[in-house]
Amino acid sequence: MADAPTTTSPDGADAPRTGLSAAALQRGVLDNLLCLRARYPEIARPHDWYMALAYSVRDRLLARWAASVRTYAATDVRVACYLSAEFLIGPQLGNNLVNLGIETSAREAMRGLGVDLDMLLALEEEPGLGNGGLGRLAACYLDSLATLEIPAIGYGIRYEFGIFDQLIRDGWQVETTDKWLQEGNPWEIVRPEVAFYVGFGGHTHNETDAQGRLCVRWTPTRQVKGVACDIPMAGYHVNTCNTLRLWKSEAIESFDLQDFNAGDYYEAVNEKVISETLSKVLYPNDEPEAGKRLRLAQQYFFVSCSLQDMLRLLDIKGEPVGSFAKVFNVQLNDTHPSIAVAELMRLLVDERQVSWDEAWAITRRALAYTNHTLLPEALETWGLPLMRGLLPRIIEIIYEINRRFLDEVRQRFPGDEARVARMSLIDEHGDKLVRMAHLATVGSHAINGVAELHSALLKQTVLRDFAELWPERFYNVTNGVTPRRFLLLCNPALARLLDDTIGAGWETDLAQLRKLEAYADDAAFQARWRDVKQSNKAVLAERIRGATGIEVDAAALFDVQVKRIHEYKRQHLNALLIVTLYRRLLRNPQLALTPRCFVFGGKAAPGYAMAKLIIRLINGIAEVVNHNPLVNGRLKVVFYPDFNVKNAHFIYPAADLSEQISTAGKEASGTGNMKFMMNGALTIGTLDGANIEIREEVGDDNFFLFGLSADEVERVKRAGYRPADYVKENAELGDVLELIADGRFSRGDREMFRPLIDNLTQADPFLVLADYAAYVARQDDVSAAWQDTRRWTRMSILNTARAGKFSSDRAIAEYCEKIWKIEPVRIALDR
Ligand SMILES: *Cc1c(COP(=O)(O)O)cnc(C)c1O
Repeated sequence: MADAPTTTSPDGADAPRTGLSAAALQRGVLDNLLCLRARYPEIARPHDWYMALAYSVRDRLLARWAASVRTYAATDVRVACYLSAEFLIGPQLGNNLVNLGIETSAREAMRGLGVDLDMLLALEEEPGLGNGGLGRLAACYLDSLATLEIPAIGYGIRYEFGIFDQLIRDGWQVETTDKWLQEGNPWEIVRPEVAFYVGFGGHTHNETDAQGRLCVRWTPTRQVKGVACDIPMAGYHVNTCNTLRLWKSEAIESFDLQDFNAGDYYEAVNEKVISETLSKVLYPNDEPEAGKRLRLAQQYFFVSCSLQDMLRLLDIKGEPVGSFAKVFNVQLNDTHPSIAVAELMRLLVDERQVSWDEAWAITRRALAYTNHTLLPEALETWGLPLMRGLLPRIIEIIYEINRRFLDEVRQRFPGDEARVARMSLIDEHGDKLVRMAHLATVGSHAINGVAELHSALLKQTVLRDFAELWPERFYNVTNGVTPRRFLLLCNPALARLLDDTIGAGWETDLAQLRKLEAYADDAAFQARWRDVKQSNKAVLAERIRGATGIEVDAAALFDVQVKRIHEYKRQHLNALLIVTLYRRLLRNPQLALTPRCFVFGGKAAPGYAMAKLIIRLINGIAEVVNHNPLVNGRLKVVFYPDFNVKNAHFIYPAADLSEQISTAGKEASGTGNMKFMMNGALTIGTLDGANIEIREEVGDDNFFLFGLSADEVERVKRAGYRPADYVKENAELGDVLELIADGRFSRGDREMFRPLIDNLTQADPFLVLADYAAYVARQDDVSAAWQDTRRWTRMSILNTARAGKFSSDRAIAEYCEKIWKIEPVRIALDR
């Protein structure tokens, strides 16, 4: 993986805008410092240096970007358009240096200017344009698409405020606004000329066009303008540089003063404020209904802009509308962009005069849908009145799609009206709702889940009727993560060891990691392996001290659970384990206990009280356990604040143990599990999501499995889950719950955790207590395994060695082959 730019610049290695040598970069940085920041070295602040370097890197990306776009415009290509309401792309500078292969020359260039590259990297604000796994998946896919030289565009929303920043005060989560744009974003290129109008509200009526055809005209009450903001997405050591195009909402420009009296002027200003609000803020997951109107408006806004942009690109290519599906494959990342089914029909039928049948054939052929959740509360539906009010033409189109679709169902299943009601795009029980997962399914030629188990459950539960009707449309594509960011960039010490041992090439062909198996028992290699892990743990320990003040021992087992806080992910099960170990120590201070450092990280949705209480519990336990002299440092508990991609970079590589303990059947795939595995952590986990495939790859001997299977979970629920039974059977569990209820971790307050205890002992749908005993027992096995250093190291090496399947390159190759039928396109840099 050593810096090895596979490409030279068109103007030679020394051109200041494109050259890849240290000297050229240095000249570029000085030019940009002066010309874009109006600074010279003596008065440059660190942030000016960061910006000057970022712009210099961007200059180099743009040469590749221009070559890529020019090639796509001029040749017969198929393009993958990835529509996602979230792109959690993480810090860009380090990743771009790695992908361009110029990290060493950038370091040297900056050193020559008396500036430390690592200091600049640490300054970068990350664009928090996503909640967690789903948004990060979209970002990993863009990296793989470019690396595999696939023509692609990511389409999303340029939120002014991304996911909130998390602070911890008195153990509670406090949210602050994410000010990622405050100092400017050097990676984005605003394109005022690439802008589209999106209508809202108003009414529709029928009219006859010039050719005498009946058509529908929609007159909206307000229009919002979407302006393209592009971020270049470079592949690793290739010339391909694709585009992430995010839409920013703006008011219709410069309303005409002549047309307004004074009162209307203020009304017009107000309209401007409303328009700009559309892309203002990212919605956190797991929030209740409130404010949904704006979210639907956001979804329609970015979907409409994106589809209009594709039609524009088709025009530029000189292709007829009928070629839409030949050129574009539109992947819907969950139901958030599913309104695309109706909007593409509207654009084709109303605006391009395509017949309904042809438009439907195009839409079906172009669109594909990825489902990300089976949790009923996360399946999107919109109230009919809301949708009719905001998008009157869209709702008409949805009704027409539904009418034709239900005719098809009735033909296949005559007399089965129950089935018709189940499958309808409109839920007619009580208040009418539009079911977005049904819309996405009916309008797509391919539907996939994100891990084997999830895809199977999808066909058995949420989309069962659809899988019976169209079995050939259902696929699985197990998620993956990019090994560039989550191994090469974030774990340079391990990357170096891999290069030394198996040679370069694994970064783009992760299956090559298998070659490590030959070294799993090699004592010298094992020692180097442990040194790498140890140095990563020392870095995390330092960060923990800086962020929380807690001192942790880097020799302890680092037991890590980082992910959004949610009851289904069961951070509280982990918390019960810690209390269990703590209690054992109190009863027997001489106990031979494997020293462990528990690290948690993750945000809770601001409106999700139980998740916030779980954070409070973890911090309450930390406060007590970390300070009890009887514990004597053998247990440490850390809640690392503000888990995001930037912090993830030093957390995953430092983990010994990866906690993947969701209730079986609830985690669609997980991707954190894959990042841990790649970096040599062992997993303790349930048979859920991609854990199952991780265990298949690594082997049962190298995976700590526990808990109920998805089938067993359902069986327990059907029989009536009685948490009290588990407490009765298990005295230790009863005592642990009692300690928490008693106020031991809430400074004597016996009310604080009552809702949590009540939930666990009365009606918990995530069956925490049912899995408690198995979990604790398996953790005892983990502790025992840790005592055998050579055995643990071997297992750690084998986890990395067998992580090849979980590269997002493999996942994207599957999408290309099975769903999109897209081939790579080689980009030449010559003019
Ligand atoms: C990978 C990742 C996630 C997803 O983690 P899961 O364990 O799969 O839920 C969430 N947030 C960030 C910042 C990530 O990098």
